[in-house]
Amino acid sequence: MPLPTPHAAFPGAVWPAIPPTPAAALLAVLGQLAESQCMEADELAMARRPQLEALMAHAAGQLPFWRKRLEAAGFEVEAGKNAGLSLAEWNARWASLPVLTRAEVQSLEAQLRVAKLPDGHGVVGESVTSGSSGRPVRIARSTLDYFYWQAFQLREHVWRGRDVAGTFLTISRDESRKVIDESVHLRSMADWGPPASVVWATGKSFLLDYRAPVRRLVETICEVRPDYLCTFPSLLLEILRHARGEGIELPPLKEAIGVGEASPPELAGLCREVWGAPLCSTYTAAETGAMAYQCREGGRWHVQAEKSFIEVIDAEGRACGPGQTGRVIVTPLHNFAMPLLRYEIGDLATVGEGPCVCGRTLPVLEAIPGRARDLLMLPSGELRPPYYGHNAVMQVRSIRQHQVIQTARDRVCLRLVVVQPLTGEEEAHVLKSAGDALGAGFVVEIEYVEEIVRGAGGKFAEFERRC
Ligand SMILES: [Zn+2]
Repeated sequence: MPLPTPHAAFPGAVWPAIPPTPAAALLAVLGQLAESQCMEADELAMARRPQLEALMAHAAGQLPFWRKRLEAAGFEVEAGKNAGLSLAEWNARWASLPVLTRAEVQSLEAQLRVAKLPDGHGVVGESVTSGSSGRPVRIARSTLDYFYWQAFQLREHVWRGRDVAGTFLTISRDESRKVIDESVHLRSMADWGPPASVVWATGKSFLLDYRAPVRRLVETICEVRPDYLCTFPSLLLEILRHARGEGIELPPLKEAIGVGEASPPELAGLCREVWGAPLCSTYTAAETGAMAYQCREGGRWHVQAEKSFIEVIDAEGRACGPGQTGRVIVTPLHNFAMPLLRYEIGDLATVGEGPCVCGRTLPVLEAIPGRARDLLMLPSGELRPPYYGHNAVMQVRSIRQHQVIQTARDRVCLRLVVVQPLTGEEEAHVLKSAGDALGAGFVVEIEYVEEIVRGAGGKFAEFERRC
């Protein structure tokens, strides 16, 4: 699919177009990414080093926490002072920098946020993880980081050869929805939204709130007739099973896009069988944005190495080789609002052997194991993604961790680890928040527990269905 011509800034400059400023900036980065995706490993590492050094100098200059850590690892903390180090020397110092854990980010949050951003980095916003570790991680992010996030989203469209004139349907949570019942909540938009619509004239897009029975979601898909559908793999699996079970012929789809969790192994095959469409997944996190894209040609994962420095390490902290599975350590390169150097994101990945059949030489991950989440069963017996008012529940500061267990079709138990007993008011807040979010027909109860055991892969299963 050839790329469409970008928007033109003024008449008479339509081909080749002179795009308006925001589109021009995105396209300028995209052009550089087209070059860097074919760099050899050492070339890429050297190209990335000045960016990493700028981040390190900024972190050390603003935050004593990072100054101490970087100096202890043997780095000069002023920009450019490490330029004389060979790649091997530099890598050895980098590897001695301790891994930053999620618990550290939670407890040291204020010490990790900078007071002042460099010129041009914009203002500070916030990303909050969904809380797969029980308590969410709050990450300060700059406007500039968001800009890079957009540039990499454009790259994803380009890599996957998407026809931006098509219709894009996202099934996710629509925060604008007020009443949770079994009705369908569908929002229609004139274009795909940023970044695609900033650069190109795109087709329409829709946001379908997932809080509806799967049967109703499938009906809506048949009405919308999307070319692209983006949702959680666990929900996509239910949609496909429902369509197959009921003999529903789904409208033609160009591509299904899985985000937010690992894909069940049977999903890609079922997607081909039922929908005749390929499944492409994106490995992303609230802390970092996109970290790897599944290759359309090769099926494995390409690390977005120009956006984040990603390492996979074994139990002893050594870099894993091809075929080995280890912990994912990530250093986002452009977020100067809260520099995270060697942050352990809590996922496992299996290192792949390069290069990929597509010709891109970016590092390859063979697999990103993880468990797809359970779905909530409604009292009617239908399934939908679990939503129980996570953020409202976690507003109660005494709650250190939580886990939600569906014990029966009409019964949900909130298991809480608390640092001090909840007041009557706090208990009522938790029960009401969860009850409102789950919708009618559920009895919600609280159980206090000493600890919540991590599942395979080191993550907490935030929601489990045991019925
Ligand atoms: Zn590839």
